[in-house]
Amino acid sequence: MADIQNENKMEKIVSLCKRRGFVFPGSEIYGGFVGAYDYGPYGVELARNIKTVWWEAMVNEEKNIVGLDSAIVTHPKVWEASGHVNGFSDPLVTCNACGASSRADHLLEGIEVFADEKMTLEEINTLFDAHRNELHCPNCNEVNFGNVSQFNLLAQTNLGNFSEDWTKEPTYLRGETAQGIFINFKNVLDSSRVKVPFGIAQIGKAFRNEISARQYIFRKREFEQMEMQMFVKPEDDMEMYEAWREKRWQYYLDLGFSPENLKWHEHENLVFYAKAAWDIEYKFPFGFKELEGVHARGDYDLTQHQNFSGVSMEYLDPVTNEKYIPHVVETAVGVDRTFLAAMTEFYDEDELGGEMRVVMRFPKKLAPVKVAVFPLLKNKPQLVAKAEEVFAILSKHMRAEFDDNGNVGKRYRRQDEIGTPACVTIDFETLGEEKPELKDTVTVRDRDTGEQKRVAITELVGYLK
Ligand code: ATP
Repeated sequence: MADIQNENKMEKIVSLCKRRGFVFPGSEIYGGFVGAYDYGPYGVELARNIKTVWWEAMVNEEKNIVGLDSAIVTHPKVWEASGHVNGFSDPLVTCNACGASSRADHLLEGIEVFADEKMTLEEINTLFDAHRNELHCPNCNEVNFGNVSQFNLLAQTNLGNFSEDWTKEPTYLRGETAQGIFINFKNVLDSSRVKVPFGIAQIGKAFRNEISARQYIFRKREFEQMEMQMFVKPEDDMEMYEAWREKRWQYYLDLGFSPENLKWHEHENLVFYAKAAWDIEYKFPFGFKELEGVHARGDYDLTQHQNFSGVSMEYLDPVTNEKYIPHVVETAVGVDRTFLAAMTEFYDEDELGGEMRVVMRFPKKLAPVKVAVFPLLKNKPQLVAKAEEVFAILSKHMRAEFDDNGNVGKRYRRQDEIGTPACVTIDFETLGEEKPELKDTVTVRDRDTGEQKRVAITELVGYLK
């Protein structure tokens, strides 16, 4: 793969995403809406594939993990019990010159001073004061910040509340998918044949009032998470934790990510109930940043929900008759961050047939379109009819696209840019006009090498899978 300069690469990815319909800025016709992005025709396919691959690895291929789809808006007590109402905040500073808000910990990290959102307000203010003369506003570049305050990230809603002063009793858009899993722990236990250790997996939207939603789809205010919570016997949690660290690392290698672009990062500051927390970081064009968190959370969440709801969260071991609240090992990753990591990992430029091209080298399972079908010429009805026939066969097995626009070379470039692994051309030989032995065969062109092969239509599905 070509070694593309990083700052350039981000611009190239953003431009490709817009131009080819992967990602659009949210509410663009109204001037945009910070922290919101829409996935276009190819983006929605890539995001779906990311979710399918995750679900296959985490649910289908695991004997003791089941799925869930819980409601986005829950009883507000859920978020009091979880600690989000009081403690889910980031350190905010406002620029006195332009009024823009920034995250104090991110500003400090920008000048290589370690800080994070888990520091107390006093700790971060002291650190911020010690460095405030070096800290520039990312919006106006002035050095003129106020004091750091804690800003709660939960977004409130009046869903189901019809009073005018609903903000006194708000409910919340979920800040993470995990809580939907914890509050259904008993339901899953009572309705499925699961036994500890078992896991519950969920994919769904989460909402955070991120102070500075920058860095494209890396940090959105509405985003999608893929989380799995494994419920284990208390004494087994660290063994389970290590097993999941290994599995999640291997998952990215299996996806085709190169190990040089991945690294582990151990949290310096653990929340009081956590036993261990490591992130898998990916080398985005703006540097190594969190892609996924793997956490050992102890029995904190289930205990909190037991205390706040009054419903027992104890598990009765059917063999030993022991009763205990299981400990939790979780893996949590964003769809959007995986999307950006995949765009970064598989973006490439090379020269093929004497021409420069942009090529997304997606593995087949991630490619938004698996095969493109072309009639050689648009104005030859027999070629078009045969190509439509081939499209009808293939599209029953995989996401296929029909393209009869422009010359074949241009059509190849268009498919290379969206990462389509194979293009199938229906030409005069397919019709058997010149060489009868080639009747009902097509040209299959490989995205990465440009090599072309003749394949019988009857064998195409198997060949392409
Ligand atoms: P960060 O430190 O980057 O804010 P986090 O540690 O708060 O992330 P978690 O609460 O552990 O994130 O969420 C699990 C995963 O959800 C993250 O690893 C990331 O992939 C994704 N995620 C979290 N916040 C966002 C966001 N604002 N936009 C997109 N994805 C996000």
